[in-house]
Amino acid sequence: MSQTYDLVVIGAGSGGVRAARIAANLGAKVAIIEEYRVGGTCVIRGCVPKKLFVYASRFTDMFSVAESFGWQVDAKFDWPTLVANKDKEIARLEAAYVAGLEKPGVEIIRDRGVLVDANTVRLVNEGRDLSAKYILIATGGHPYVPDIPGKEHGITSNEAFHLKRLPHSILIEGGGYIAVEFATIFAGLGVQTTINYRGNQILRGFDADVRTSLEAGLEARGIKLIYETTIRSLKRHDNDVVVEFSDGTTAPYGAVMFATGRRANIHGLGLDKAGVAMTPDNFISVDSFSKTSVDSIYAVGDVTGRAALTPVAIREGQAFAETIFGGNPTSVDLSLLPTAVFAEPEVGVIGLTEEEALTGHPDLEVYVTRFRPMMNTLSTRSERVMMKLITAANGGKVLGVHIVGPSAAEMIQLVAIPMAMGATKADFDRAIAVHPTAAEELVTFKAPTYRYKDCVKV
Ligand code: NDP
Repeated sequence: MSQTYDLVVIGAGSGGVRAARIAANLGAKVAIIEEYRVGGTCVIRGCVPKKLFVYASRFTDMFSVAESFGWQVDAKFDWPTLVANKDKEIARLEAAYVAGLEKPGVEIIRDRGVLVDANTVRLVNEGRDLSAKYILIATGGHPYVPDIPGKEHGITSNEAFHLKRLPHSILIEGGGYIAVEFATIFAGLGVQTTINYRGNQILRGFDADVRTSLEAGLEARGIKLIYETTIRSLKRHDNDVVVEFSDGTTAPYGAVMFATGRRANIHGLGLDKAGVAMTPDNFISVDSFSKTSVDSIYAVGDVTGRAALTPVAIREGQAFAETIFGGNPTSVDLSLLPTAVFAEPEVGVIGLTEEEALTGHPDLEVYVTRFRPMMNTLSTRSERVMMKLITAANGGKVLGVHIVGPSAAEMIQLVAIPMAMGATKADFDRAIAVHPTAAEELVTFKAPTYRYKDCVKV
């Protein structure tokens, strides 16, 4: 049977939009199906609105040092103004995404698409079938909420973007990216904020110095950290939510937010009908070219569970289109992923943690510096920036860079370039410092702070 489309994409988020646009530019006949808004999690209820909220929350830090620079500030914050302006910006970006699809001729179909077989997608509302040579699943993910009594009284990041008013206090369950980012947003906007984490330190998997520095930074901003407990149940009482913790204690909060990870959007997609295999964690299983177990079906982005990061989804979408429609087989190398946590203080990391580096490199050099950012030096604020460089022995390859402090995300993006080129400590040393900056510390490290020889710290 001849196919109507060369490509049908299910899901118009970061990965799906990029794949559709590039495929159409390469001459393919493409349709993209979206049941919600064009732009996906990142644009509509993720990275972009989150960063706008982060900007809003950071004025508190600025005000705290303003007086030391001679400013008198009498500031008031209005939450509805922020939400309305954020919504306007998101609508503008969504329109830009739509235009970016329409220009190369991608057909945008507002419906829910489900698989019928390896080459057919059904539009649930229209009841019509589309046949396609290739199908790309880019349906993303959604917040996971633990199945506890009263869970409906909690919110997730989805709802946090549209709260009618700010709560007087909030308890955030989880210790990952979303928990710490939203904790600093709420705390910065004046909400009494508590993080409740089942582990013994936030940001599991990050370098130990990053975790400790961020923890100190959160506490310095008045965020309370409760460790080794979970929420057992929630009950509503007047305008508050009463939390029962796993240790049996209870406390009321103005709101409770779950930031307990995300799951793939696969429910009812018809993956079984088409014979698409899953990973043990219930993500779509793909090879390095994003091909599923079915030759005509590919998947990119969060639904594959590789790395739930927008730039990764975009790369995967681009690589898919290049591979299938550009005659240029392209796989995505995810071995060196820079990442940032837009908390306050900010975190930027790339490469191996000290613990990870030691597993493959018994001889290491570690350079660590902690200093007050210049912005704070006129004030009494004592917070320090933390920068850490982990290299192979004798000025060898830079294996990991970890930064906590202002502009850490911007710095780590640029560090990603020499890291991708396989830079050594000697390469970093050759770079001339830009003064006065925080980043200059990365190119002016002299002797290692400590070394490892045969995995023993010396
Ligand atoms: P994360 O996986 O980062 O964190 C989830 C947290 O919830 C962990 O601390 C985890 O604990 C905890 N948790 C999981 N299940 C339970 C449970 N049943 N009860 C109590 N606690 C639980 O997920 P997020 O939701 O924060 O973010 C999802 C992903 O989105 C991130 O991993 C990241 O890839 C991406 N993201 C990226 C951002 C960025 O680039 N700046 C910003 C936001 C999200 P434990 O550590 O013990 O497993």
